[in-house]
Amino acid sequence: MRSRFPCGVSFESSRPCVFRRAEVRRIDLEARRLTTEEATIEYDFLVLAPGSVPNFFGVDGAEEHAFPLRTMDDAISLRHHILDCFERAAQAEDAKARTALLRFAIVGGGHTGVEYAGALAELIYGPLLEDYPEISRDEVEVSLIEGEERLLRAWHPAFRSTPTLAW
Ligand SMILES: Cc1cc2nc3c(=O)[nH]c(=O)nc-3n(C[C@H](O)[C@H](O)[C@H](O)COP(=O)(O)OP(=O)(O)OC[C@H]3O[C@@H](n4cnc5c(N)ncnc54)[C@H](O)[C@@H]3O)c2cc1C
Repeated sequence: MRSRFPCGVSFESSRPCVFRRAEVRRIDLEARRLTTEEATIEYDFLVLAPGSVPNFFGVDGAEEHAFPLRTMDDAISLRHHILDCFERAAQAEDAKARTALLRFAIVGGGHTGVEYAGALAELIYGPLLEDYPEISRDEVEVSLIEGEERLLRAWHPAFRSTPTLAW
């Protein structure tokens, strides 16, 4: 994995810190050395912050059939899929086929799920229904599914008690 965008980072005021855009391929803890695709970098102290990967919590079929939402590429392919569903539904004559394209389920009522449910609803009930007048509001369904009793369980109760989904 590497930074998606060219980074013009400057550490002028805090030398001897330098920025290098590269992918770390190997770490030799004994020799205190990193290997990237282009160079070898010696270090005294190592801080690793390479992020994480989606966790499907062992749910059967989730990895194969669901769209993860973690990286920019995930978000772009999800957006393309939603636009594609609307495009195909607008042209489908069979009501069952239309319904199958217009029901969206979001699993996980944490920060990302709640925020995404709101963003998806804004996209659908705003520009998409305007762009596709052949599709009626009643044909579209957005479901947010959470396994615990409440949404936003990690939040302080004062903040999590009133997430309102209304559109
Ligand atoms: C959809 C979504 C929405 C979010 N919204 C918010 C929000 O509104 N507010 C908020 O505070 N947090 C939000 N978060 C959480 C936040 O993005 C993460 O907590 C945060 O990015 C974690 O930072 P990090 O530096 O640990 O990892 P990351 O941001 O993932 O950074 C890790 C970096 O390491 C690089 N890397 C990995 N492997 C290598 C390698 N071998 N060599 C070189 N580079 C490598 C990666 O390319 C990446 O740039 C959101 C997360 C998601 C998924």
